[in-house]
Amino acid sequence: MKIGDYEILMADDGTFKLDGGAMFGVVPKTIWQKFFKPDDQNRIELSTNTLIIRYKKFTALVDLGMGDKFDEKQLAIYDIKREKNLIQNLEGMGIHRDDVTHVIITHGHLDHTGWATMRVKNSIIPTFPNAKYYFQEDTYEEIKFPNEKTRPNYNYLNFENLDDQLEIIRGDEEIFPGLELMKTGGHTKGHQVPILRAGNRTVIYFGDLLPTASHIKPAYIMAYDLYPMDTFYKKKELLEKANEEQWIITLEHEPVKKVVKLLDVEKYNLEQLSL
Ligand SMILES: [Zn+2]
Repeated sequence: MKIGDYEILMADDGTFKLDGGAMFGVVPKTIWQKFFKPDDQNRIELSTNTLIIRYKKFTALVDLGMGDKFDEKQLAIYDIKREKNLIQNLEGMGIHRDDVTHVIITHGHLDHTGWATMRVKNSIIPTFPNAKYYFQEDTYEEIKFPNEKTRPNYNYLNFENLDDQLEIIRGDEEIFPGLELMKTGGHTKGHQVPILRAGNRTVIYFGDLLPTASHIKPAYIMAYDLYPMDTFYKKKELLEKANEEQWIITLEHEPVKKVVKLLDVEKYNLEQLSL
């Protein structure tokens, strides 16, 4: 999709599975199984959609799928499936690793940071050598000081040898003209979302504040969220704004309706869009 001088694209890193109950929190299975059919282990299949924003000499990627640093056990737990990985999909769109100037990390979880680094023979290198990686300071702290609850959500290989390219930010910040990072908290303390304002059009990528189209209602919050009431209020506020101004909403883990706009904020009906 072209909006003024900006080009908006999406690429994915295949699919993976998470427990359906954990994905829908207090929403009963009788309801969520209408949206996602669980497998025999109660897991549902989710996408890993990276948002791409191109503007003049900049190429920004938002979140980076599952990556290439899983062992056999983890591959089985998450049932990762892909015909092509994110890097191959980007190549297919004419975007090479060297072209990427900005990497925006919504938060540090392993399904969002996979391609921050990659394996080359026996070492791990930053996947995008010319990019700055934008983390909220709170995300950086959460990664550095995990506890028994948060540690399983990280893969530390995703952050190896990244230090020279890190750009630690605090709160809301415009990182190039039109592209703002907004700190939302909620899912994690440091969770952030990018908001692109181009003329009278606005594009938002919700990260894990709103992972799939089936989570559109503010109270449909994942059990993974560390601060669920913060998620609730922030999501409600952003969705009201999105409805009022007809924002383009892009969804990270949604397999089908990856790009949508709101039709109302009573029933939260959506219209599917394409990029
Ligand atoms: Zn997450």
